[in-house]
Amino acid sequence: MREDNFRKLAPYVPGIQPRFADMIKLNTNESPYPPSPKVIEASERFNAADLRLYPSVDVGPLRDALAEYHGFDRACVFVGVGSDDVLATIFQACFNSGRPLLFPEITYSFYEVWARLYNINVKKIPLRPDFTIDADDYTGMENGGIVIANPNAPTSIAMDKGEIERIIKNNPDSVVVIDEAYVDFGGESVLGYVDKYDNLIVVRTYSKSRSLAGARIGYCIANPDLIGVIETVRNSINSYTNNRPSIEIGVASIKDEEYFREMIAKVVATRKRLTSELTELGFHVLPSSANFVFAEPPKSVTAAEVYDNLVKKHIYVRHFNIPGIENYLRITVGTDVQVDIMLSEVRKMLGK
Ligand code: PMP
Repeated sequence: MREDNFRKLAPYVPGIQPRFADMIKLNTNESPYPPSPKVIEASERFNAADLRLYPSVDVGPLRDALAEYHGFDRACVFVGVGSDDVLATIFQACFNSGRPLLFPEITYSFYEVWARLYNINVKKIPLRPDFTIDADDYTGMENGGIVIANPNAPTSIAMDKGEIERIIKNNPDSVVVIDEAYVDFGGESVLGYVDKYDNLIVVRTYSKSRSLAGARIGYCIANPDLIGVIETVRNSINSYTNNRPSIEIGVASIKDEEYFREMIAKVVATRKRLTSELTELGFHVLPSSANFVFAEPPKSVTAAEVYDNLVKKHIYVRHFNIPGIENYLRITVGTDVQVDIMLSEVRKMLGK
C-alpha cells in the first residue's frame, strides 16, 4: 500500500499503567480513594439485561442531573467520554478559523495533539519564569481560540478568576476554553461567568475529584448555541457516547456531595504534608491547587534519577522529558500511607 494513504501523528503519551500488586501509583492523577458508596450501590443495582438497549442519545439523565447540580439549563450541558472526549469534540467544533489557537507552552500535552490531528494552527505562549500564566499574553493577539487549564497541568498552579475573566472579556470573537479538570482541589471556577460571556466553555471531569477515572465521564458547560455546535460535531461522529452503566454511576456520584467534599479535604490535607516534607528534603515544590505536586529535586540528584530509583521500588510518579521541565517530577497525591512510603524511599536515596 502507498504510505500517503495514512496519517502520520505523534500521539499523546499517557502515564503508564503498570500492574504490580505492591505498586504505589502516583503517576496519572487518579484519586487514591474509591468512589462514593452511592456509586457502588448504583453499579450493583445496574441491570445488565438493559445493555441490549442503546443508552439515551443525549446522555439524558446525567445531563439533567449535572444541569441541576450546577444550576444551569440542560441546554447548557454537554457530556462526553471523559473530558478528553469533550475537549477533542470542542477542538473540532470551535477552532476552524485558520487563526492560531493560543495555549501555554507548558500545559496538558493533549492540546497540541488534537490541534495537529484537526489541522488547527497553534501559537504556544511561554509561561513566566515561575511557571505562572500572564493574562496579558492572551489579550492583545489575534487568535482563533484559547485553551487554558486552570489549575494548569503539570505545573499545578491556579490562576485568579479575575485574570481569566480578563482573557474571556478581551477575546469576544473567539471561544475561550477553561479546562477545570483539577479545580475542585483549590482553584477558582469560572462557571459563574458562563451566563455573562457567550464565548466561554468550562470543561470538567469525573476522573479526579469524583474518583471515577475508569467510568470515563467528562462534561462542559457553555451557552446553548455553543453547546449546539459541539453536539452537531459529536452527532456527526458517534451519537451514543456514554454507556448505560456510566450514566447511572455519574448521576449517583453527584448525589453524594458530603462524600465528595470529604475526599477532596483528605487529598488537600495530604498535599499540604507532601509539600512540606518534600520542601524539607530540599525539593522546590510549586504552589499546588491540584491533586498533584510539581517538584524539582535538590541539586544532588536529578528528577530522572529519582524517577528511576522509585520505579525500581514499584513506585510510579511522572517525569516529562520536555525542555524546561525535565528536572521536575509530577507526583499525584496518594493516601498518607502511599505518600509516606514514597517519601521514605526518597529520603534513603538522598542519604537523609
Ligand atoms: N485535562 C487535563 C488538564 C488533564 O490533566 C486530564 C487528565 N489526563 C484531562 C483533561 C483528561 O481527563 P479525563 O479524560 O480523564 O477526563
